[in-house]
Amino acid sequence: MGWHNRFFHPEGLDAETPRRLYALFDQREGETLLLEAVDADWFEDSIGPGADFTVWRDRSRDARLSVLEIAERSFRRWNPVQLPHGKDELEDEGPREWIEVTLGAGPEEGLLYLSLFGVARPIGIEDMRAAPANVAAGLDEAFDLEPHVVDEDEIREALDGLKTQIDWVGVYDVGQGAATALCDNHGAPIAYFDLGGGVLANKGTFSNAFTDICTSYEPPVILSHWDWDHWSSGNRFPVATSLTWIVPNQKLGAVHGTFAAAIAANGRLLVWPGGLASLRIGQVEIEKCLGTSGRNHTGLALLVDGPAGEPPILLTGDARYTAIPSGLGNPISVVVPHHGADMRSHSTPLCLGQPAARAAYSYGPSNSFSHPRHCTYVDHDFNSWPHRALTPGSSAIDRHTADRPGGQLGHIALGWSSTAPTPTQGCLGKKCSLQLVQR
Ligand SMILES: [Zn+2]
Ligand SMILES: [Zn+2]
Repeated sequence: MGWHNRFFHPEGLDAETPRRLYALFDQREGETLLLEAVDADWFEDSIGPGADFTVWRDRSRDARLSVLEIAERSFRRWNPVQLPHGKDELEDEGPREWIEVTLGAGPEEGLLYLSLFGVARPIGIEDMRAAPANVAAGLDEAFDLEPHVVDEDEIREALDGLKTQIDWVGVYDVGQGAATALCDNHGAPIAYFDLGGGVLANKGTFSNAFTDICTSYEPPVILSHWDWDHWSSGNRFPVATSLTWIVPNQKLGAVHGTFAAAIAANGRLLVWPGGLASLRIGQVEIEKCLGTSGRNHTGLALLVDGPAGEPPILLTGDARYTAIPSGLGNPISVVVPHHGADMRSHSTPLCLGQPAARAAYSYGPSNSFSHPRHCTYVDHDFNSWPHRALTPGSSAIDRHTADRPGGQLGHIALGWSSTAPTPTQGCLGKKCSLQLVQR
């Protein structure tokens, strides 16, 4: 049990710079692209062609992983595969082809992270091209989660604990990322929805005061989508990968594939089956998102009704409301999509205006993405979610994990009653760092 591969060690272990990488586009951050990569020589020696995810799963503990950060203009100069043009691309939209990168001589053109929680080093690029077709096919095969796809019954069985009454939703302050939970009347998690936090350039946004999660219920973790700021705390807290994770089936590269392998090795990896549009259990409805490209809009979203049948709280992950089947229904409260990013879609649900209604934002102070964006405040405020930036005064209902009142972690409590007292963790904060502080 633990952090599985050295790339995930929370202390940010040092490693040797590889010579050659097989890399896959992960996301863009303004004019910068991030690619997740594996040492190509290691992959050929240790995995080779014709291996499926079961082979990767069993050998990836030793995989030499990295994340390559490169300016968009440099990428376009090498032009290994076509990058969509125009200013309208979303952060997770980009090429899906494998790229072979040779590092070495040449001016410093990028940064290489050899740890998810480490510091990047500058690197030169000697060559960058599309990976040969047979190599790309082998990589696709190795990272295909197919061997872990389960049927609906197995997911229902894993989520049986959700028949317990849910009284609160905790939106945790994990810095730049997201971690939320469906909680009992003490605020203890019955299930998590995402368990991420700040990594790479944003690792400093994760507070040192956050020392442990609560696993009293052996809560399953439902992953909205494969994005490291939504699962990285699975490495910060060693117990997390021994839980059951219910995850969407998305195209993965080496870093995501190795985290999936860590769950399969330590806990249970249940991959959402194709054709299952939604699943209802107790107060909870999990919905498969309807997006057509990118990971953000094609994963899982969750709605949780109140214990007395009140309207739901909507947990969006990074999906825009229009990609979630019930995204434009009438939730009592929302966790605003994608840390408040500009979603290039102005649609928001209409706020019911109930006393407990809130719009919660999960992001880290001074993050590199400039989340949240003012346009997101405007789009919500317009639909009757008064925001402090536009509607000053006590009527504002936006809450921000980055606020950290009194220097505490900025965990937000969402509920259905505005008069019920904020729950107190059963351990009184002695065992976990999940005490909710904002309402
Ligand atoms: Zn994302
Ligand atoms: Zn995210």
